[in-house]
Amino acid sequence: MATIFSRIAAGEIPSHKVAEDEEFYAFLDINPVAVGHTLVIPKAEVDYIFDIDDAKLGRMMAFAKRVARAQEAAIPCKRVGLAVMGLEVPHAHIHLIPITKESDMYFGGAKLSLTQDELAEIAARIRKEYK
Ligand code: 5GP
Repeated sequence: MATIFSRIAAGEIPSHKVAEDEEFYAFLDINPVAVGHTLVIPKAEVDYIFDIDDAKLGRMMAFAKRVARAQEAAIPCKRVGLAVMGLEVPHAHIHLIPITKESDMYFGGAKLSLTQDELAEIAARIRKEYK
């Protein structure tokens, strides 16, 4: 059965898309720890990120870098932090999080509660900066 993230990349489940190419898809996390919290996934299903072959992992990181540049331009922050856990969804994903302080990347606390309209506006801002 397809993972929830495969269904998102295929457009079967709605998401706030940030960027896309042939191999990868970036969209806002539904429970963001910070404004602009984005997930980068490969369109082809793989659970564990370190099972991705070296060349593709390099392309995934290059894609994530372009997304991070767009986040830096769109969201006030000091830099974009990167995390990989994958304990909840068995489809490899990189968390890209605009941060100004270490605690902005704390996953164990309360998440931001943003409306669908707010998420759509944030995604549009990042999309506009994606090159
Ligand atoms: P992890 O697997 O890295 O521990 O966390 C999975 C992340 O995916 C969480 O931050 C969670 O909020 C996010 N997530 C889970 N289901 C969905 C979904 O259906 N849509 C979106 N946009 N994000 C999701």
